[in-house]
Amino acid sequence: MQLKMALLGNPNAGKTTLFNELTGARQHVGNYPGITVDHKEGCIIRGTSKITLTDLPGTYSLTAYSIEEIVARNYLVEEKPDVVVNIVDASNLERNLYLTCQLLELGLPLVIALNMMDVAKNRGIEIKIDKFSELFNIPVIPIIARTGEGTEELIETCVEIGKQKRPWTPRDIYYGEDLDHNLKALEATITEFGLLSTSYPPRYTAIKYLENDEQILEKGRETDPETAAKLEKIVEEASEHTRRTLDVYPEAIIADHRYGYIKAILRQGVVTHKFDTDRLYTSDKIDKVLTNRLVGPLFMLVILFGLYQFTFSWSEIPVVFLENVFGWVGDFIDQTLPDGLLKSMLISGVIDGVGGVLGFVPLIMFMFFGIAILEDSGYLARVAFMMDRVFRIFGLHGSSVMPFIVSGGIAGGCAVPGVMATRTLRSPKERMATLLTVPFMNCGAKLPVLALLIGAFFGEHKARYMFLFTILAWVVALLAAKLFRSTVLRGAPTPFVMELPPYRFPTLRGLLIHTWERTYQYIKKAGTVILGISILLWALMTFPGLPQDRKDSFEAQKQQILTQSGLTMNALSANQLSQSALETKKQISIISNKETEAGLRYSIAGTMGTKLESITKYAGFDWRTNISLIGGFAAKEVIVSTLGTAYSMGEVDVEESESLGKRLQNDKHWNKVVAVSVLVFIMFYAPCFVTVVCIAKESSWKWAFFSMGFNTIFAFLIAVGVYQVGTFLHLG
Ligand code: GDP
Ligand code: MG
Repeated sequence: MQLKMALLGNPNAGKTTLFNELTGARQHVGNYPGITVDHKEGCIIRGTSKITLTDLPGTYSLTAYSIEEIVARNYLVEEKPDVVVNIVDASNLERNLYLTCQLLELGLPLVIALNMMDVAKNRGIEIKIDKFSELFNIPVIPIIARTGEGTEELIETCVEIGKQKRPWTPRDIYYGEDLDHNLKALEATITEFGLLSTSYPPRYTAIKYLENDEQILEKGRETDPETAAKLEKIVEEASEHTRRTLDVYPEAIIADHRYGYIKAILRQGVVTHKFDTDRLYTSDKIDKVLTNRLVGPLFMLVILFGLYQFTFSWSEIPVVFLENVFGWVGDFIDQTLPDGLLKSMLISGVIDGVGGVLGFVPLIMFMFFGIAILEDSGYLARVAFMMDRVFRIFGLHGSSVMPFIVSGGIAGGCAVPGVMATRTLRSPKERMATLLTVPFMNCGAKLPVLALLIGAFFGEHKARYMFLFTILAWVVALLAAKLFRSTVLRGAPTPFVMELPPYRFPTLRGLLIHTWERTYQYIKKAGTVILGISILLWALMTFPGLPQDRKDSFEAQKQQILTQSGLTMNALSANQLSQSALETKKQISIISNKETEAGLRYSIAGTMGTKLESITKYAGFDWRTNISLIGGFAAKEVIVSTLGTAYSMGEVDVEESESLGKRLQNDKHWNKVVAVSVLVFIMFYAPCFVTVVCIAKESSWKWAFFSMGFNTIFAFLIAVGVYQVGTFLHLG
């Protein structure tokens, strides 16, 4: 038997934990990491029942206030799951049951999973499950999602309810005299004309009309403008009436009555508190310090800096190891394959490209692991809370913090999920400002470039400089946001609405799943997009190839050296060479270097890079840097590999091959000032192609192109500033 089951609950109620517990590895993520706006699916098999479980976004309500709420509601009414599990945080019953009320009004087949029973118990909250279930008239299963306690029983109950395939039976909640007759009038009209009747129970639609639910209002107008007009007239009268008599909008009355309904039930001996309720819980005690106005930010800096130290020191060994592995593979191909296009493509396109990216997987994994600890312990929400004060100054919102952090605000995220995470922002202008500035963060793809250049030019204090460049990213992003919010996106701020979940010890399982999900996204990108782009770039850097006469001239030079020394190419490939033979070999490799360099410069990418030099020289970029920056338009991951390819193509002597960092250090075009100028350009220029597409999808192509154009010009101006000032002061 096939069953469709949906999981719904407030943020932090333990949805993800339960989902992972129930489905284990049998899950499929349909969205980007860090945010569950699109739904996740998993599968549970019990006997002959196959249950498809959908993890809906966390919401406090089912109105159309945020995208999450709309996504969740649309899923429920369109997919009509056989059973809905409403996960409720037992330590926070009243607030959590607000959503439950709305689910009851929809009338779906509902099962309550009463989670965090352990937390409730520790706080001295006692819940009489039987009474609770009886009064609400729905099954209630106490669980501890973290340990899996009660989850088997939960599934059994769900299968039982799901199998009944019972029709929806909406619950009526009384909304008081003032609204009742309006509600009845609305309901009658809706029933008469069958408005939206395939999706919603009539009374539910009526309530939504009174709540001024934009989405429902619009749908009504679309499907039946006449009836909709009648309804809206009733709503207007009702609203005027309540404003005159009670000085509130109907929404407020509705919310009050829902809470009243909940309280009325809970008071009937369902919940008893053993301790004094205003006793400070451990979380509150910790918060006294960690979110303190003065020491809170200090702790934050220390914690974030600690994350850097952890990531960089612990990942060093695996990073070096992977670099070596790719080095060996390269050597192996070099020795086994004959010279030619295939070998060149494999080494310069595939291995350098993918290896450059995969080599950083350990680093990114450690970083994500650290972020997962902050997130799962509840600390990240405190960061958002503290940053709200700062963000406000720049015309952003506390909820903008998450997109920034996901994009790499602590370093090592991705702007793609960051852009999607902006969906939680309710004000369109604050959202747009966040959307446009999150690409300034140091995403996982920029990390390798940062690590490379910082390692090469500021080697001693890697962690310190990484930290500095992260701060710089924030400063620039916030200033840019302020600029947008006082020009193209001018408008009033909205208040901060976000819960601070209690502190919790993260579970290893949760941490590993989070880390893996995000790392996998990175690898997937590296394996597919980057591989394709890397090969394309190799082609751009290889073709059309030097014209025959120039090739001949290089060949003649080599031949001349050989003739002079009386040796052959074959003799030079021997293992043991005399002093003079070694000298000859070196001379020949110098010629080969020049030939490859000439070939690169003659290539399509070289031509572009060289032409751009006339502008980019003001920022200190030479044509090879330009080539890699062109590649970076497609994906930032490509920059390091392209630099590698560009510089390794000029080198032939494999035994002498140094790391790319060393090569740059020794190159006459590079110095500290150039490194910083290139770094700031890379940090702030056009977002990668995937991000641009996401920005377009979240807003419009107009904004996507704006972002590309604005960022590139903006970044270039900063780079020119850095280079000119740095050079003037002789800092190189
Ligand atoms: P979501 O936002 O609803 O997806 O919530 P999560 O599944 O991410 O859970 C939020 C936090 O609550 C995590 O740190 C979980 O480890 C923790 N958590 C979830 N279920 C329980 C539980 O039953 N008991 C305790 N003590 N913690 C839990
Ligand atoms: Mg979750």
